[in-house]
Amino acid sequence: MSTSEEEQAGSKQISSLQYMKGVGPRRAEALAAEGILTSQDLLHFYPRAYIDRNATPSLRVLRAGLQRQQQGEIFPEEYSLSAESIVVATIADVKERRFGKQRTIVIVTLDDNSGVKAEIVYFNQAHYFKKIFAPDMLVAVSGKPELNKYGRVTFHHPEVERIEADDAELYSAGRILPKYRSTQKMKNAGLNTRLMRSLIAGVIARELPKVEETLTPALMEKHSLPPLQTAIRQMHFPDSRDSLTAASKRMKFDELFYFELFLAMRQQGARITERGIAFNSKSKRARKLLEQLPFELTAAQRRVIREISSDMGAASPMNRLLQGDVGSGKTIVALLAMLVAVDNDCQSVLMAPTELLAEQHFHSLQDYVRDLDVKVVQLVGGQRSKTRRLLLEEIASGKADIIVGTHAVFESSVEYRRLGLAVIDEQHRFGVMQRARLKQRAAASFYPDNLREDPAEKSGTTEQEVMPDILVMSATPIPRTLSMTVYGDLEVSVIDELPKNRKPIQTRVVFESQLEKVYDFIRENARKGHQAYIVYPLVEKSEKMELKSASEHSEFLADAVFPDLKLGLLHGQMLWYEKEDTMRAFKDRHYDILVATTVVEVGIDVPNATLMLIENAERFGLSQLHQLRGRVGRGADQSYCLLATKDHFRFQLKRRDVEAGEQKAAIIRLKTMEETSDGFKIAEVDLQLRGPGDILGTKQSGLPEFMFANLLTDGDLIQLARNEAFEVAGRDPHLRSPENAVLRRRFRSLYQQEFGFLDIA
Ligand code: ADP
Ligand code: MG
Repeated sequence: MSTSEEEQAGSKQISSLQYMKGVGPRRAEALAAEGILTSQDLLHFYPRAYIDRNATPSLRVLRAGLQRQQQGEIFPEEYSLSAESIVVATIADVKERRFGKQRTIVIVTLDDNSGVKAEIVYFNQAHYFKKIFAPDMLVAVSGKPELNKYGRVTFHHPEVERIEADDAELYSAGRILPKYRSTQKMKNAGLNTRLMRSLIAGVIARELPKVEETLTPALMEKHSLPPLQTAIRQMHFPDSRDSLTAASKRMKFDELFYFELFLAMRQQGARITERGIAFNSKSKRARKLLEQLPFELTAAQRRVIREISSDMGAASPMNRLLQGDVGSGKTIVALLAMLVAVDNDCQSVLMAPTELLAEQHFHSLQDYVRDLDVKVVQLVGGQRSKTRRLLLEEIASGKADIIVGTHAVFESSVEYRRLGLAVIDEQHRFGVMQRARLKQRAAASFYPDNLREDPAEKSGTTEQEVMPDILVMSATPIPRTLSMTVYGDLEVSVIDELPKNRKPIQTRVVFESQLEKVYDFIRENARKGHQAYIVYPLVEKSEKMELKSASEHSEFLADAVFPDLKLGLLHGQMLWYEKEDTMRAFKDRHYDILVATTVVEVGIDVPNATLMLIENAERFGLSQLHQLRGRVGRGADQSYCLLATKDHFRFQLKRRDVEAGEQKAAIIRLKTMEETSDGFKIAEVDLQLRGPGDILGTKQSGLPEFMFANLLTDGDLIQLARNEAFEVAGRDPHLRSPENAVLRRRFRSLYQQEFGFLDIA
């Protein structure tokens, strides 16, 4: 359908909604503003919540959860921070209170006969609210409750919906009432819950029989999923909690299954269209390096090395994510893979997100390969043109075996020769596009003049491009459910074990009034020959401000606090070689203390640094704090991480009316850091606090927006859907078998454009 046709159809549909009984132009417009243009749209406009007597917490239960949270439990079972609570109660009283001359507030008292009352507080539009609420009304209140300073459950400006008499009857008889999203525009047009329900009932009668099934009978039977038509009806008008649960599981499974099928097909597609290099994974150099290592690899390192080398040995390209917490030893794993490439006469690149990190990798790799006859070069921005020209020559001629660098490695001026392996470190800073560009560059390095030399090409199999193996390394621990979706087309290897010699880092929240003691502690640590980081956040967004405050702060520390110690300064405004000099000087122990902004966040490796003080720690994100802390505890000595924050935070921990939102989140972050050093647990909490889109950036990560599934809570279902999807794609890669006709039709309508090559049309 062309766009203009679509538009026409669209406007036709508007008019059809407009002429639908009970709608009319004004309501049609309010619905159109929400993207509801057709009766199909209305059919799929699902309730955003349900009012269910058996599932709404009583005010008593709600208060218990809030109290436990106040006592320090982070996510009490009764009440999760991210969740919105719906309570149903009767209005007992509506009071107006005056503040000063102008302001009035309205306090609505709720009673649900549980022995605990609650209050709704309205600061604005007091008159309006006073008018619409009256004693004895039954209402459903949804919002984030808090305890006020008298310990009473309080809602500030929640969403309140009146439950009409007939609904109230249904409600007390145990019927589940749907609750639809409603805008002010919809309300103004008289589109209340009751009208929505009757419109949707009409649409169900007319449209539901036309809805085609999207899952096979086998899948539905195996996972006890109701048919789609049943599920849709139950979503709108649930007969019971059980039938609603089943319907919702069906809807979730459906969207997860097709998303995972998309990933499975993409993986299949890569296998079909991309030719990789079947490396001989027996590498002399790798063996020699292993013999020379001053430490034993951990079991986890050995396992992921096996996984990687089996990928590299296969004829299809590797697309693997290597996950491992900070300090788990990913670099050596990557190096072993690169040595396999070297022994197969191929180049490797190692891309790092910053020049500082590239520099560090460059030095540590050079260290490792000292007598392995491997040429490692470094390609970063800002190199002098003569140096750069020489480098480019070495790369193009194949003299360089391992190229370490920043994004500079995939500039178009860089010509590779048989680039067989690309390792991308700290991938969350590299976009998908950059990955694709790198693939292209690599593919080009096998053409055109290398064509004849390539043994695979001689066998004359295909004209497919040769794709390099790709290993993405990430220290950002991603919860399992997220990695299954975001990196769903990558195989995942996890290093879930730290080297044996590590002692857990002791982490403590300290308050600014205790800083004297903290400084003494740092001094004592220095006396023992250990080094320390003092980190603080950017004070302002402005880079000039950063520079100013960085130098001011370190001057203050150097003059007034640690006149007896040597301090270095590292901040984002320094040139790359200045940073590099400073870091190297710190590594060589010329400084006792490195005062730094967050530039020390990723990858810096100084085992002798055993103490980190993070100032204004409440300003950092959780994963950032975790990354920062990973800079210490990298050797055998006991390490410490101190999170300094304002004194009033300590006070606030005890206060009863800590406001929800940013401050509460900050407290949870600090406590989480104190309580655990498990990157995956930290990531789970982070996910609860921020939501998945925020963690990875929806657009960049390709994270899908699911309508029904919740990445946080539906981990098991995601796994289930994934297994089924990959099994289907494995057994029937073109979805040709007759029993998969249903899947084929649906998949085609969802992803036709992406899969022209799969011959699936
Ligand atoms: P990350 O996974 O954070 O990139 P690195 O690869 O930088 O970790 O390793 C951190 C430190 O641990 C390095 O100094 C490295 O030499 C060391 N290391 C790596 N593997 C082991 C091991 N199995 N035993 C002891 N130390 C190790
Ligand atoms: Mg690293």
